[in-house]
Amino acid sequence: MASLTCPQLDESADVVVVGGGITGCAIAYRLASEGFGAVVLDKRQLYTQASNSNAGNIHQQIIPGSVFEKNGWPWVETFAKTISYNVEAGQEWVNLGEQLDVDIDFKMVGGIVVAETAEDMAMLERKISLERRYGGTSEMVDAAQLRALAPYVSERCVGGSFCAEEGRANPHKAVAALARAARGKGAKFLSGVEVADVRDDVMGGQVVVTDSGAIRARHVVFACGAESDTLLKRIGYQLNNPRRAIQTMVTEAVSPFMHRLFYHARRRITMKQVANGNVIIGGGWPAQHGTQEDYTRTLSESISGAAAIAQDVVPRVGDLSLLRAWASVIAQPVDGLPVVGRVPGKENCWVVIPNNNGFTLAPVLSRMIVEMLQEKRSSSDPSLFDPARAAVAMT
Ligand SMILES: Cc1cc2nc3c(=O)[nH]c(=O)nc-3n(C[C@H](O)[C@H](O)[C@H](O)COP(=O)(O)OP(=O)(O)OC[C@H]3O[C@@H](n4cnc5c(N)ncnc54)[C@H](O)[C@@H]3O)c2cc1C
Repeated sequence: MASLTCPQLDESADVVVVGGGITGCAIAYRLASEGFGAVVLDKRQLYTQASNSNAGNIHQQIIPGSVFEKNGWPWVETFAKTISYNVEAGQEWVNLGEQLDVDIDFKMVGGIVVAETAEDMAMLERKISLERRYGGTSEMVDAAQLRALAPYVSERCVGGSFCAEEGRANPHKAVAALARAARGKGAKFLSGVEVADVRDDVMGGQVVVTDSGAIRARHVVFACGAESDTLLKRIGYQLNNPRRAIQTMVTEAVSPFMHRLFYHARRRITMKQVANGNVIIGGGWPAQHGTQEDYTRTLSESISGAAAIAQDVVPRVGDLSLLRAWASVIAQPVDGLPVVGRVPGKENCWVVIPNNNGFTLAPVLSRMIVEMLQEKRSSSDPSLFDPARAAVAMT
């Protein structure tokens, strides 16, 4: 067994959380609030990966754009089941800043989806009726209602839909606030500590082997985002969990004109204006992910593609200077559902890998895993996210 004498690491912890992104920080906050001694280990600086790069949208609805054409209706029907979890998450976000005693720039601004054609409108009607089965609250709006909600949209927009229960928060402030609150309740965070393996301890529990020594833990929670596969494979759990590099960009700050989240029924775009006036433009445009783990690069065709749609549907955006684009990697579970629960065959090992709504879902997925670890009955049904469904035979 590896040495347990590294000065950075305690000898033992109730729970070791591997990964200090928003998922790991939210889990540490929940654990510490429940009286667990939690230690979060991250091989880099804390929250520098997807959790530092996201657009900060708190989604309720299925993000439309090209998702329907790309994945097909059966995939969308399964994915729609996550709506009820998004609804719960939205409710948790409402109070999160107050709970953490930090202004995280949260606003429930609502989200509009614009349609340019009758086919777009028909698709939105179908999407909304599916979402309503799982608690979705979007409604169709005609052209006049759309303009009342969003006067800045192009004349070509013939109507769309509106979901009042969608919002935004500042991802940097939110994740830092979760970590700070967790620390305040006794959780420990160590950056620059890579977990290489997790073994069964002869004394019961687990031994977490790192490049800085080892630490014993009653439980281990894996919250490694897009890199989950590598470590989980070491403990015999191979996931069908491809990763995907995506990019986002931001314009100069201007006085407020766009108050809501913005989506298009068919075209790949999400937009919103944040608290300090910048417009964030995203929509899951592809970026490049190199063979080296930390290498991501924005693609100029994604920048020009997103910019073209953005100014086409919101002409005012065409007057704004683009400041910066950036990319990061997200986990992309093939069925679009998060992976949350006990690692198959491992009594004390747990995993949380969000889907593409990992910022939105962090308050709910963290609560679910801490309830599971306590063997409490969860108010949110975890069976949909069962890790066993995402396992593939070891090669
Ligand atoms: C461009 C972009 C825009 C997005 N926009 C939104 C949005 O608007 N709304 C939304 O809901 N979601 C959005 N997302 C998705 C969201 O950001 C992610 O789902 C979420 O941040 C994932 O958080 P995480 O903590 O699980 O993973 P990460 O933030 O990736 O954190 C995982 C951590 O684990 C660490 N780690 C990995 N392996 C090890 C190891 N062996 N030992 C120690 N540490 C390890 C890593 O260093 C990393 O810090 C977006 C993502 C991107 C990239």
